[in-house]
Amino acid sequence: MAKLCIVPTPIGNLEDITLRALRMLRECDLILAEDTRVTKKLLAHFEISKHVLPFHAHNEHKTLNGMIDRILSNQLTVLVSDAGTPGISDPGFLLARECVARAIEVECLPGPTAFVPALVASGFPCDRFVFEGFLPHKKGRQTKLTRLGQEDRTVILYESPHRLIKCLEQICEFIGPDRNVCVVRELSKFFEEYKRGTAAAVLEHYKAHAPKGEIVVLIEGKHGKSEL
Ligand code: SAM
Repeated sequence: MAKLCIVPTPIGNLEDITLRALRMLRECDLILAEDTRVTKKLLAHFEISKHVLPFHAHNEHKTLNGMIDRILSNQLTVLVSDAGTPGISDPGFLLARECVARAIEVECLPGPTAFVPALVASGFPCDRFVFEGFLPHKKGRQTKLTRLGQEDRTVILYESPHRLIKCLEQICEFIGPDRNVCVVRELSKFFEEYKRGTAAAVLEHYKAHAPKGEIVVLIEGKHGKSEL
């Protein structure tokens, strides 16, 4: 019986790989990877030698049928992305959906992803939350932020360092300068940082200290009362 196993990989710190993830990578017949160079480095670090094929966002639609054929001709195929959990702002959803539609067994191991530690350490309520991933760059961005500003639940965004200032300016403009936010940078890495405060205060901080690295932005829900 063919099976697809979706395997999360570290988002910075290689110690975050799980024992099960390593076993799957060692035992599988084939690895599908977002970027084969990134995955081969990870495999080399753990002294794993395995057949790796590319499966990235640009070819996800085009190669779906070919990938399904490969999955069917093997017992265990592993899907990984460059970092974190495939399918979470990374390729993976289409393949998982197609496997489910064709009654191929799909499993995802628990493991690293950026938004969960960012949410839990933010100090904002984490019993109910909305994960939006990356906002659209242009069209629909303002409408989406305005709508997210009405959310009672904690809102989670992925953002690039060169768009963080713009993102915080827009939160000030469309949601309000007094809304509490938390910017989480470089999770699990040497320069890990949490910047908590009102959108206006956090914006001022990053205007004075240019943001670098990988970033998660959390926006407290509309009726939040955290003292940051
Ligand atoms: N699949 C990944 C996951 O499970 O979180 C997300 C991949 S997405 C292409 C990359 C984005 O995730 C980054 O731009 C950043 O917003 C967030 N991210 C990934 N690693 C991070 C880290 N170590 N610290 C903070 N944010 C991170």
